[in-house]
Amino acid sequence: MERTLSIIKPDGVKKNFIGEIIKRFESNNLRPVAMKMMHMSKREAEGFYAVHSERPFFKDLTDFMSSGPCLVMVLEGDNAIKANRDLMGATNPADAAPGTIRADFADSIDNNIAHGSDAPDTAAFEIGYFFNGLELCDRV
Ligand code: ADP
Ligand code: MG
Repeated sequence: MERTLSIIKPDGVKKNFIGEIIKRFESNNLRPVAMKMMHMSKREAEGFYAVHSERPFFKDLTDFMSSGPCLVMVLEGDNAIKANRDLMGATNPADAAPGTIRADFADSIDNNIAHGSDAPDTAAFEIGYFFNGLELCDRV
């Protein structure tokens, strides 16, 4: 059993894809154990994406992530990190396999609908960035 952080980014919320995306998670044995709507400040987005602070797209990325509300979730399941990334598809929706979340819903690499942790250490950091232990609900 593994946990991963998922974010439906501001474009996914704005386009009313919350239900469609959560349905895909639940249909593929990824269960939400925590979730909240939040509108990140610029500083909060910069902290979340600190690993990318030297990248040329950092300013646009953090402007976008702080441009509107997101749905931030912790998903639990077998191999949850990889399972979530497989469901999302490639970072650039133009390269994402048909039937993936990004292929079906995203417009561009800048506006690519969803975030998913990429490894156990980043998942632990990202979950702790948004949630405390009391907010993670064991599913039975
Ligand atoms: P992922 O979200 O698939 O884990 P990365 O961690 O590499 O991808 O990048 C974080 C986010 O930054 C991406 O989801 C995307 O929105 C944005 N991004 C990544 N690479 C680029 C790029 N070359 N140009 C513009 N935006 C990018
Ligand atoms: Mg990433």
